[in-house]
Amino acid sequence: MSSPNAESTAFRSALEVIRAVEPRVADAIAAELADQRESLKLIASENYASPATLLAMGNWFSDKYAEGTVGRRFYAGCQNVDTVEALAAEHARELFGAAHAYVQPHSGIDANLVAFWAVLADRVEAPALKRAQARQVNDLTEADWFALRRELGNQRMLGMSLDAGGHLTHGFRPNISGKMFDQRSYGTDPATGLIDYDKVAEAAREFKPLILVAGYSAYPRKVNFRIMREIADSVGATFMVDMAHFAGLVAGKVFTGDFDPVPHAHIVTTTTHKSLRGPRGGMVLCQPELAEQVDRGCPMVLGGPLPHVMAAKAVALAEARRPDFADYAQRIVANAQALAEGLLRRGATLVTGGTDNHLAIIDVTSYGLTGRQAEQALLDAGIVTNRNSVPQDPNGAWYTSGIRIGTPALTTRGLGTAEMDTIAELIHTVLSQTRPGANADGTPSKAKYALDAAVADKVSRQASELLTGFPLYPTVDLT
Ligand SMILES: *Cc1c(COP(=O)(O)O)cnc(C)c1O
Repeated sequence: MSSPNAESTAFRSALEVIRAVEPRVADAIAAELADQRESLKLIASENYASPATLLAMGNWFSDKYAEGTVGRRFYAGCQNVDTVEALAAEHARELFGAAHAYVQPHSGIDANLVAFWAVLADRVEAPALKRAQARQVNDLTEADWFALRRELGNQRMLGMSLDAGGHLTHGFRPNISGKMFDQRSYGTDPATGLIDYDKVAEAAREFKPLILVAGYSAYPRKVNFRIMREIADSVGATFMVDMAHFAGLVAGKVFTGDFDPVPHAHIVTTTTHKSLRGPRGGMVLCQPELAEQVDRGCPMVLGGPLPHVMAAKAVALAEARRPDFADYAQRIVANAQALAEGLLRRGATLVTGGTDNHLAIIDVTSYGLTGRQAEQALLDAGIVTNRNSVPQDPNGAWYTSGIRIGTPALTTRGLGTAEMDTIAELIHTVLSQTRPGANADGTPSKAKYALDAAVADKVSRQASELLTGFPLYPTVDLT
């Protein structure tokens, strides 16, 4: 443990140094802490990293170029970067029981790109090089190189559909993954909202993807990765899991056995800043046969690594290996379930009827609202959520019909199941008192709404009262 005043002193001094150069930046940083302290944050993808994690990012590691991997750099003088990168990778391997860890990706998107290109290099490029008896791509003839580039751009991916909770980086057209791959998606059963593994197997048999992707940002249930691996094996696909959202639940051993992706997938990607509670960044875990290709992430896909962020990853992963992190992960799920039950008891409709992870999706059509109206009304009442599609969403991806809520951040603050019931009451109060608005011509609007200011104020006051009992960064006093 650091001494009681060390954290306050560290952040206060840092602000003083910044204020001397550009006071508006120092003020914005201080204001951000104040805003975060006051906000009832139910954003499922956000969290609060520890002071040690935050401080590990603000230093001269940021000045260093370190392309390559530990011990094999394209730049001289990387011995200290080697230390932190090796430490972060070691903590990751130990924490997740993974054969190999690559901690350079700058974000979740980047981790997925590294994974996709590692698989393409292993399964498309390497065999082509072998056929041409070339050691590397620069040795190919123009004709062979042209053919290889076409082959790389003509591969198939099967992933979860966006409205069922999949992610844009799993082969959807607005993202580069959709321009790289011929993509098909599997959805969920319309009656239950759950993944139908027989349907996934059927889609895999028909489509024969090179890569089968599991993982989500808005699915409130566990996924059976053993079954998904069997499906991948049955069609010769590489099985990839993107655990960006639920890595903290894997780290904290809430998801074990069939529900732990690491022993089942060929390759696993994640962010480090969501339920894992580390710095903003990404990471790839893989089986030994893909390790060499994954380590080529920089310069294949990534720019120079961010050594200051790798240092912070090492700190956060060390924290996640402590026994209290498992307790934290259990509490995240207990809180999500208490919140879901509180909402159901008050008459709300939830996608799949509940949750067994860190998030839930409220179908707000039962309140007569769109996701957009609900999101704004909740924000007026001091409750921060985000709108999200529901399966077969009648309102499309912009207005949506859902509200996604998640508990990793509030659990870090220390709120428990009793507080979750209070929050369910506040959410239900706002949603049941919000009325959808109309356009000028009298047709129903998907954006306009009316919420009595007195109701919004009252809920807002109750929300901040709730938070005062659970101070955020209690060891940090900037005054
Ligand atoms: C958040 C998320 C990402 C993207 O992470 P960034 O760090 O924002 O790039 C990728 N995949 C899934 C499933 C996610 O939830």
